[in-house]
Amino acid sequence: MAGRRDVSTRTRFLVLQRDDFKCRYCGRRPPDVELVIDHLVAVANGGGNEPENLVTACERCNAGKSDLVLQEAAIPPITPEAERALRESVARQRRMLEFHMQAHELRLQARQMFIDEWASQFSARVEDGFYRDPLVDFPSDGTVDALVERYGLDEATRAIAILADSWRNHAIRGREDSIRYLHGILRRRQSDPQGGQS
Ligand SMILES: [Zn+2]
Repeated sequence: MAGRRDVSTRTRFLVLQRDDFKCRYCGRRPPDVELVIDHLVAVANGGGNEPENLVTACERCNAGKSDLVLQEAAIPPITPEAERALRESVARQRRMLEFHMQAHELRLQARQMFIDEWASQFSARVEDGFYRDPLVDFPSDGTVDALVERYGLDEATRAIAILADSWRNHAIRGREDSIRYLHGILRRRQSDPQGGQS
């Protein structure tokens, strides 16, 4: 196998795209068949990895080399447009990934600010960089994310102060009660932003 090089991912994609993601011999597509990239002139016979020597084939046609004869003349060259489309598609995917990473980062920051406010209102100690023993247990990450998403970080953290007041007046007890109460505060403030307590 010395000297043999595999077809690059980029070339594979270009060939698949050029061939419309179907077998050039029998015309079938996934998920009916699995597609592979086939060398017209075998590597053993000196064929290279350039797109002109590559076709999309299903595994069965590739294994049997098929009784059908491939119309070589029907294979169009890979156009600059196809190359550009591939580059743009890669760039688009990278932007999407960056967007998701930023959104994730923002969610973590918002969660931390909510937890900081909770820790401050409910007198958590800091030990080894972690909050310990708040008077009311911290809500779960999922609960915090949902509150922030629904009401916004400002409203959600403001509501913690209102909750803490009620808690000090013994109006509520425990984490489950507190979270229910928090939802109630936020719903009320949302439906009546001017009125109510603040
Ligand atoms: Zn086939």
